[in-house]
Amino acid sequence: AEIAIDIHKTFPGRATIRARIRYPVEASTVLILFGPSGSGKTTVLRSVAGLECPEQGTIRFISRTWLDTAAGVNISPQDRRIGYMAQEYALFPTYTVAGNIAYGLGHLSVSDRKRRVSEVLELFQLGGLESVKPRELSGGQQQRVALARAVAPRPQLLLLDEPLSALDAPTRIRLRGELRSLLKQLALPSIIVTHDREEALALGDVMAAMSDGAVLQVGTPQDVFSRPANAEVAKIVGVET
Ligand code: ATP
Repeated sequence: AEIAIDIHKTFPGRATIRARIRYPVEASTVLILFGPSGSGKTTVLRSVAGLECPEQGTIRFISRTWLDTAAGVNISPQDRRIGYMAQEYALFPTYTVAGNIAYGLGHLSVSDRKRRVSEVLELFQLGGLESVKPRELSGGQQQRVALARAVAPRPQLLLLDEPLSALDAPTRIRLRGELRSLLKQLALPSIIVTHDREEALALGDVMAAMSDGAVLQVGTPQDVFSRPANAEVAKIVGVET
């Protein structure tokens, strides 16, 4: 089983994103998209989610084709069954924690929905906070709610855009460890955008190094950081931290 991404996307006058990433995927394989601001990481993530449509390319997830522009295939975001967590969490401010988590569960009966919300509240250690609004939560708790909302509908792939970047340093380091064990526990493959070297090393099984709209190297994070393929990659991995 593998994930194969091969896309070309132009924002006229702004940027061209070209990404080819292909890697074997198991239950909880984590791909890291790593690179400086503006390198195209979010565009790749949004293309996998089906929120952005490349002019040209293919995206295959295990045995399914989600995008094949030449064949006119473009599976809708809902049918890709993806959990997506945006950079600033994008929680619904007027919904409670439980309401946020229940958001993607409209297809379930009321009793199944309640059961799933309770399960997820417990999994993310949010018990007791179900009636609270997002603004009353700490940054770390908001991060957990956003993740809980993404995971609640049992997606087959989880996409996280800078999941820890909005947190202060001590919280970020604590949640990095939690996120790692949680991802293993969920047995759910994921793609994580980050520009943080420690996060890439701690969380990633595979890493794609991006610069200026292009994927320059794909390997294990350890490999890419210790043996960059060329001077351009060396610059990206060296300039970080
Ligand atoms: P960051 O870490 O700052 O989020 P990134 O690596 O995720 O950066 P992208 O957000 O994918 O990078 O942006 C890559 C390039 O594409 C940037 O130059 C950006 O200006 C351009 N871009 C992205 N989305 C759009 C858009 N909707 N319209 C025009 N240009 C865009």
